[in-house]
Amino acid sequence: MKWRQPEIKRTKTVCTYCGVSCSFEMFTRDRQILKVQPVVEAPVNGISTCIKGKFAWDFVNSEKRLTTPLIRENGRFREASWDEALDLVARRLLDIRDMHGPDSIGFIGSSKASNEEAYLTQKIARLIVGTNSVDNSSRYCQNPATKGLFRTVGHGGDAGSIEDIEKADLVIIVGSNLSENHPVIASKVKAAKKHRGQKLIVADLRKHEMAERADIFMRPKASTDLVWASTLARYMFDHGYADTEFLNSKVNQVEEYRKSLEPFTLEFAEEITGIPREQLIEAGEMIGKAKSVCLLWAMGITQHSHGANTSTALSNLLVVTGNYGRPGTGGYPMRGHNNVQGASDFGCLKNMYPGYEKVTDDKVRAKWAKAWGVAPDELSDQVGEDNFLMVQHAKEGKVKAMYVIGEETAFSDADSTNVHEAFTKLDFLVVQDIFLSRTAEFADVVLPGCPSVEKEGTFVNTERRIQRFYEVMPPLGDSRPDWRILTDLAARMGHDWGYNHPSEIMDEVAGIAEIFAGVTYERLEGWKSLSWPVKADGTDTPLLYTDGFHTDDGKAVLFPLEWEKPAEEADGEYDLILDNGRMLEQFQSTNQTGRGPRIWSLSPNWFVEVSPELAQELGISEGTWLEVTSRRGTVEVPAVITDRVSGRDLFMPIHQGKPGINKLTGEHHDPDVNTPAYKETAVKVRVMDRT
Ligand code: SF4
Repeated sequence: MKWRQPEIKRTKTVCTYCGVSCSFEMFTRDRQILKVQPVVEAPVNGISTCIKGKFAWDFVNSEKRLTTPLIRENGRFREASWDEALDLVARRLLDIRDMHGPDSIGFIGSSKASNEEAYLTQKIARLIVGTNSVDNSSRYCQNPATKGLFRTVGHGGDAGSIEDIEKADLVIIVGSNLSENHPVIASKVKAAKKHRGQKLIVADLRKHEMAERADIFMRPKASTDLVWASTLARYMFDHGYADTEFLNSKVNQVEEYRKSLEPFTLEFAEEITGIPREQLIEAGEMIGKAKSVCLLWAMGITQHSHGANTSTALSNLLVVTGNYGRPGTGGYPMRGHNNVQGASDFGCLKNMYPGYEKVTDDKVRAKWAKAWGVAPDELSDQVGEDNFLMVQHAKEGKVKAMYVIGEETAFSDADSTNVHEAFTKLDFLVVQDIFLSRTAEFADVVLPGCPSVEKEGTFVNTERRIQRFYEVMPPLGDSRPDWRILTDLAARMGHDWGYNHPSEIMDEVAGIAEIFAGVTYERLEGWKSLSWPVKADGTDTPLLYTDGFHTDDGKAVLFPLEWEKPAEEADGEYDLILDNGRMLEQFQSTNQTGRGPRIWSLSPNWFVEVSPELAQELGISEGTWLEVTSRRGTVEVPAVITDRVSGRDLFMPIHQGKPGINKLTGEHHDPDVNTPAYKETAVKVRVMDRT
């Protein structure tokens, strides 16, 4: 018989590298990924993708993939069967719960896993263990933005769609390196600017690509964004640009807020932010005259000790100018991980059931208890612990066990030395991942999960759009889809849920959580998508607030704020401020992008960006090795001299390096949301005698 090659298969999937959630067809032959082909039907990206979506898939068939469960024995891992590993996890979690109480166990859900998997993570925590201590990586990134939206307009998601961003008269990008972190959205903004004359204001410490393209580029001093945002809000009132009709009919606390703006004069803003008064006026005029404004922000705002307040200030500015509820308007926190929005939407939050329903609300708790077949008092009415508190309390011996799914906590959490110490104090750590990550190295049991291409499910992108992804190939070795692992674990803990397909999980959520009432796999078939809230008849909501705000009386709230100094500033000894962020070619800890030469070779080296003026002052040349020291530790890294940074600001990517940037970052955090202030790291540098 003539030998024939296996058929080429084409499967729709969704990129797992950023919150844009580009979808495309993946061409495969057996396990070989032949190419990624975007198609016009893709609702977010059409025929566009970036380099990661197109090429960063080598990790799927990496020989380093975990393919069998591991159990630590005498300090070393040994392979185990699924039965043995799951029995051990179930027994140890139940024993620890019974001995130390439900809140001695914490769960960190994955922002890369599916919505259905996020739902099961919180269901195990809440229903079986009895704790609300469940969180996801939004704690490290956009939780402060969500808080700002809750305070002012009510929904924890982008106000509109990416199409609205394209439609806006003016786009403001704050603390977001859009062209490297959300490249396809950046392309749309660039196109709108080029073809439609869309205006662009960028405020950032760093002169990245979008800053270079901006009509106005404001470069505030670190951690002072609340001041210029509040000053521009005052400017709107003072110069007749506040939308009086909108404020009178749709907004509460207007006068109280206006009074709170008294300190925010142009002189004060110039002094605190360093932005020239003339530039503030120019920006104020551009915002005031724009017919529709979209404001995008990211971790340059949120990863500060007052990130929730600054996010609130940005949303306040949009409310003052009536820029919510119309096409081309609204606040848009740019979600980083592909499913960080979905992990929160589907309940991996310490205070919310899926659909942002409060755990402290008796009626809500009674509803979820009924749906899950238990008495209301079997579900905790106490807000649980978040990632930050779990780690702190593990260090203090109060949290005894943690279950971490797909998160690289040991590398990505601030002050990694502290995190490592906390992990060594746990009685029991379970890590569910596709690689033996740095976090897994601390684990007692490691369970091999699957990447998205080896399972089915749904993701929610930054614009609240829910999309399906399909199984491209079967799980590698003995690895299993995370939803199946969690279902099997629940059964061993006395709850036989019997899910045979992720669609059954989605059906369950849709039957309970109001904002997902009309979500079904049929309505998401193929290239179809839905933006929550979705009514029972399937009507979705790409643009929020057209019929009022998501508050008790349907009105937005202007939230008074004061500016407070950052928790850590440069001083006589630590005289420089270290900023950090992502690069286009890499993703987080590089556990995925570091598995093949195609992507890794484009940016293999760690570096620190130094301004030309600082380089001259300290005698630093391109490639000079620097010892960078904070109050937490020291790293050694070569310098890149560039005017992307200015003055005494430094920048390092978050991806590479041993031990990595979080050797330097600290425990100081935003007290409103417990998000670490990664971007407030005071350091000093020493020029090393090394080439
Ligand atoms: Fe993936 Fe984001 Fe790139 Fe799209 S823009 S291909 S979602 S990394």
